[in-house]
Amino acid sequence: MSKGIRIEQRRRKERAFEDEESSLKIYASIGRILAGFLLLYRALASTPAERLGLALLVLRVALALALVAWGILFLIAARRPEPTRFAAWAYGDARSALILSWSAATSVSDILAGAGPAVFVAGVVLAAAISWDKLGRFVILALSGLGLLCLAVFLSSLMAPGSFRLEQILVPASAAVASIAVARTVRTFVAPGRERLRSLERENKQLWDLSFRDTLTGLYNRRFAQETGRILLSRARRYQEQLHVFMIDVDHFKKVNDQLSHAVGDEVLKAVAQSIQSCLRTSDSVARYGGEEFLAFVVQAEAEVAQFIANRIREAVASRVFEGVSWRITISIGVASIQADDDLETLIDRADKYLYSSKRGGRNRVSGF
Ligand code: GH3
Ligand code: MG
Ligand code: MG
Repeated sequence: MSKGIRIEQRRRKERAFEDEESSLKIYASIGRILAGFLLLYRALASTPAERLGLALLVLRVALALALVAWGILFLIAARRPEPTRFAAWAYGDARSALILSWSAATSVSDILAGAGPAVFVAGVVLAAAISWDKLGRFVILALSGLGLLCLAVFLSSLMAPGSFRLEQILVPASAAVASIAVARTVRTFVAPGRERLRSLERENKQLWDLSFRDTLTGLYNRRFAQETGRILLSRARRYQEQLHVFMIDVDHFKKVNDQLSHAVGDEVLKAVAQSIQSCLRTSDSVARYGGEEFLAFVVQAEAEVAQFIANRIREAVASRVFEGVSWRITISIGVASIQADDDLETLIDRADKYLYSSKRGGRNRVSGF
């Protein structure tokens, strides 16, 4: 399996883990721990069939303790915002397989000890509730569990002739069939709604990206920059905070397109965008303003700090090696700081003017303030 697919699977499990209500996760974990103790008590209190006595006791105790451990591990995972390694592994597909294998194994030990296969009934119902979107796999698992129980009934009747009871097969068989029917119904009537919601969310995000992101660099686009700029400006004015606008332009960019190719030019733009973003804080905002022009809003930074940041961006680009380009790529920056009577247009205009002073001054430099 490729690394990409594994990462994608892990993400899907993490999303499933995050989707589930955390109170639900806590109650379910407490339920597992209590049920584990109940089974432990039952295993220790019962007097199992002679022949398999000790082995059966050990098996039943081990299965009960496994349930307690499972509950505790999920309880720890439920209290963390990120799933623990155990939860990430045991969520998704593995979860219903675990539930069914565990409940089938417990019921086999129950049948061999002369008790009814009640745990399998609970397990099959729980697994059906979880696996409605993977019906095929659930059916295979449920039928395998049922086969295991039939084998256990057969073995126990060999060991203790006359112990066969029809209900030992009929009860889990009807539970398995009923669970498959429930999972099918949920899949038909509930799943489409939920999946539609997911796909709507995805479409919404795509629409948002289409409206506000630049497809080449992944940065915000000019429209978003203008919206954000207005909000940041009124906020800065209201709270009397600093606000700096950086207008950034790649020097002699036409040379890249003309002497190399448009494709190399595109790669250079992406790399420049990356360098700019890596020098800013997450509270700052950077957009592709036009062809090879970028606009950044730097919030709550004094003039010296803004100048320092601008120079850091300039140096980051100047020292970067661009694939397929044999010369140094540089950028020029104009920095304008907010003034009392500024609106967004005048502020950006001033940054633009300073940018042209940088160009006139020889490029690869920062002007402004
Ligand atoms: P200066 O130092 O004065 O800024 O020189 P320059 O060559 O960068 O000048 P100019 O701003 O005129 O050139 C910008 C060029 O950027 C022109 C345009 O073809 C190119 N360009 C605009 N958008 C894109 C794009 O998305 N991809 C590529 N490869 N080139 C683009
Ligand atoms: Mg340019
Ligand atoms: Mg330009």
